[in-house]
Amino acid sequence: MEVLNGPLVDAHCHTVVAADLDLPGFARWCTEAGSPDPSYVDSQVGLAVRRWCPPVLGLAAHTPLPEYLARRAELGWRAATAALLRSAGLAELLVDTGLDGLPLKDFGDLAGAPVREVVRLERVAETLAGTDAAGFADGYRTALHDRVATAVAVKSVAAYRFGLALPPDRPADADVRRAAGTWLGKGGGRLTDPVLLRFVLWAGVDTGLPVQVHTGFGDRDLSLRDADPALLQPFLAAVEPAGVPVVLLHCYPYQRQAGWLALVYPHVYVDVGLTMTHLGVRAAAALGEFLELAPLRKLMFSTDAYGLPELYPVAAAQFRTALRTLLDGWLAADALSTVDAERIAAGICGGTARRVYRVPARP
Ligand SMILES: [Zn+2]
Repeated sequence: MEVLNGPLVDAHCHTVVAADLDLPGFARWCTEAGSPDPSYVDSQVGLAVRRWCPPVLGLAAHTPLPEYLARRAELGWRAATAALLRSAGLAELLVDTGLDGLPLKDFGDLAGAPVREVVRLERVAETLAGTDAAGFADGYRTALHDRVATAVAVKSVAAYRFGLALPPDRPADADVRRAAGTWLGKGGGRLTDPVLLRFVLWAGVDTGLPVQVHTGFGDRDLSLRDADPALLQPFLAAVEPAGVPVVLLHCYPYQRQAGWLALVYPHVYVDVGLTMTHLGVRAAAALGEFLELAPLRKLMFSTDAYGLPELYPVAAAQFRTALRTLLDGWLAADALSTVDAERIAAGICGGTARRVYRVPARP
């Protein structure tokens, strides 16, 4: 399938750390354990890094990490980062700028591809700590309006802050004012109040841009049970009349639930970011589960890479291999034609993302 060798649209990712890393530093960024203990990299994601990244830096596949990191340090983080990012074969990067790291412009220069911004809704609120309760709602709307002027999407991390079982409706102004007063009275900071999380989510819907929502696994900062995308069903139903696409990110281990939501709600899409990276040779099985119920035109590739430039080529290679494995199996079973397989792959690799995020291909 020719399209699997071509460039991918990375519909959700983050920037990288601008530093050389020793083994504990690398281990800390590599897994969702966030631990400097190198034994955590003895995992599917560690094997995938060793499979895909050493050849980019001129070493044999499966080179042990200490040797790999020595080569990386010899090149320096900047040259290694550029080589790794470019090896991923990404046509566009839609970057959630809610996490720290290399500034967007520098990141795009190293990646050698266009970068576009995804604005994190909670982060915009957290910049408004100097405002007062009465001015919070309007201040937030104005700040968000300014921030999204050149953005392609907004994103919610409510899963990390409260969980996805938020009451679905738009909160009343008086409730927002009261909650903002309590939050600002404590000096602002991390936004965890469910009324304010709903307020920023609905403000995101009001921008008219697609809304990306973190669902499923991540680091231990979230409650996995409360990140089941099925918990979002009342919100998805409430927001449907707005006509705004909602993209369920990551989803694992709830990819079947997410696929069902994409089936029954026309505005709901699913994104495989993070999941392909971490599952190693099992990535094809999870991809198959995404595609059991989800309409084939509603699944999108992304890396969800953050911190390590290695995670971009790993995510891209894992995804390409998984999708090829899956479609080859379907073709062998005579479940579809090669024309259908090409069309489905083209959508997942970038066609759907270009349509949903309104990012046209360059001539
Ligand atoms: Zn992310």
